[in-house]
Amino acid sequence: MAGESLGRRAPRRRVDRMRELERRVGRLEAELAWLRRAVEADGEDAGAVAVGPCPGCGRGVLVRRRDELRCSTCGYVTFL
Ligand SMILES: [Zn+2]
Repeated sequence: MAGESLGRRAPRRRVDRMRELERRVGRLEAELAWLRRAVEADGEDAGAVAVGPCPGCGRGVLVRRRDELRCSTCGYVTFL
């Protein structure tokens, strides 16, 4: 019937769309996990401020405490 050509094209588009959505969900999950670590790192110490991702491991949160930047995950430390 007329639905055959439609039936052959629609699933491919749907698969592409699904893959795109899966990639986006994966990115958002990683971002959310990082933000959650940032909030936790921030809450550990009233004088600490999360400043960004760690250059050492790329996963941890760099926390500033006075003149020191320390990673919450890998132990990377640098002094300002
Ligand atoms: Zn790190």
